[in-house]
Amino acid sequence: MERYDVIIVGSGPAGTSTALNIRALAPEISDRTLVLEKASHPRERVCAGAVRAGAVSTLERLGIKLSIPFRQVNRIRIRYGADILDLCENDIGRVVRRSEFDTHLAGEAQRGGVELHENEVLTGMERKDGGMIVSTALGTYWSRVVVGADGTPSRVRKLAGIRDRMVAATNYMVEVPAEMISPDYYGESADMLTFDFSLTQRCLSGYIWEFPCIIDGRDYVSIGLFNNNLFNTGPPSYRRNLRQILMKQLKSRGLNPDDCSVKSHPTRMFQKSNIVSAPGVLLVGDAAGVDSFAGEGIYHAIKYGQLAAHEVVRAFRTGDLSFSHYIRSILNSDFGGEIVRFGRVARALYGSSIKFNFILSLLWNSPDIQRMMIQNYKGTYKIRGHVMKVGWKMAHHLIFGDKGVPIRGPIGKVHG
Ligand SMILES: Cc1cc2nc3c(=O)[nH]c(=O)nc-3n(C[C@H](O)[C@H](O)[C@H](O)COP(=O)(O)OP(=O)(O)OC[C@H]3O[C@@H](n4cnc5c(N)ncnc54)[C@H](O)[C@@H]3O)c2cc1C
Repeated sequence: MERYDVIIVGSGPAGTSTALNIRALAPEISDRTLVLEKASHPRERVCAGAVRAGAVSTLERLGIKLSIPFRQVNRIRIRYGADILDLCENDIGRVVRRSEFDTHLAGEAQRGGVELHENEVLTGMERKDGGMIVSTALGTYWSRVVVGADGTPSRVRKLAGIRDRMVAATNYMVEVPAEMISPDYYGESADMLTFDFSLTQRCLSGYIWEFPCIIDGRDYVSIGLFNNNLFNTGPPSYRRNLRQILMKQLKSRGLNPDDCSVKSHPTRMFQKSNIVSAPGVLLVGDAAGVDSFAGEGIYHAIKYGQLAAHEVVRAFRTGDLSFSHYIRSILNSDFGGEIVRFGRVARALYGSSIKFNFILSLLWNSPDIQRMMIQNYKGTYKIRGHVMKVGWKMAHHLIFGDKGVPIRGPIGKVHG
């Protein structure tokens, strides 16, 4: 039986980031690390592929340049009914094709010396001799540490006996050639991520998105719906018919839903009660949980990988493989703090119509909040150090209001 220090299950962004970061921090551990992947790259992953600039720069610090096709994002459009707010800043992110992104990262990891076994599914895991016996259809291994980077339905989580109440967001999406919406669609929207909150509070605890993307060199648009399922928004008939809501949206964009193939995949929501480790076992990315405001997990998957690598290296140096402090490390990290703060934003936006109206009006009227949002997305602004400032802005808005004055400036542009 082959013996490893670390087995990482899953080679999506969370698994590959963990492997790459272990490689960078401790090559001697990396030489005894194995990544197991049930599919083989390039494999499809249902995802709209919007990657924050912060994720790109985190990868660049590991020496990885994204040499794959992408759409550069310079604008975030927030829509509420006829009202539109555009937040503009150069190069805040990219939209990539996930199969290409994941293949690129996995290839970089392999070129850097990471051992990756594709087409090898984890089937069993059992504790033995201070580590884990990890079984697949193709072999049996022993490892001191197992990292579960195997997505929302994580088998590592189940086999490690981790039981907690999972809330998974519903995501439906379609990808259609841009010209099906309008012949000059890309003239207007090529660099823009649209988040539409028009149905939030009415029937969604989430939003509808529309992102540009490139598939096989052609301009496409992904249209999708995110509902975090944490709050009961709207009548039960709506909640049962989220797919129908997307169909209506497609019709409103001039599309025939019958021509669109709907894809879906659940996303585990992060809550403080989530259990993310067991002795010798760490969970990262979707297996651990992502933010319940946007369900945006690529950036967080990469950050989880970075943190988990530090935890693994520290565990080997101290000999404490319990990982009992891992949840604390997540909560104390920049990205973990953000996931928690976004959870609060989600609760306010999706859980209470009064707070929803307040937050929207604050966003529409405060250039500072707009700047914070966009720079946070870009990764150049850390809200953590500015909680007081945000609090003051909110209090000011609550007490004095801004009387709905449209903002025009370098960051925010209000239409409608
Ligand atoms: C419709 C939709 C749209 C989205 N859009 C965005 C977006 O625009 N931007 C964004 O940031 N996030 C988006 N997300 C979220 C994002 O896709 C996920 O958060 C991200 O993929 C998580 O990465 P991961 O590495 O944790 O898991 P995954 O990407 O799910 O990777 C898990 C890997 O584990 C492998 N695996 C699973 N089980 C086993 C096993 N038993 N043995 C071996 N290997 C196994 C799988 O094959 C897979 O390769 C979207 C999600 C959905 C569903």
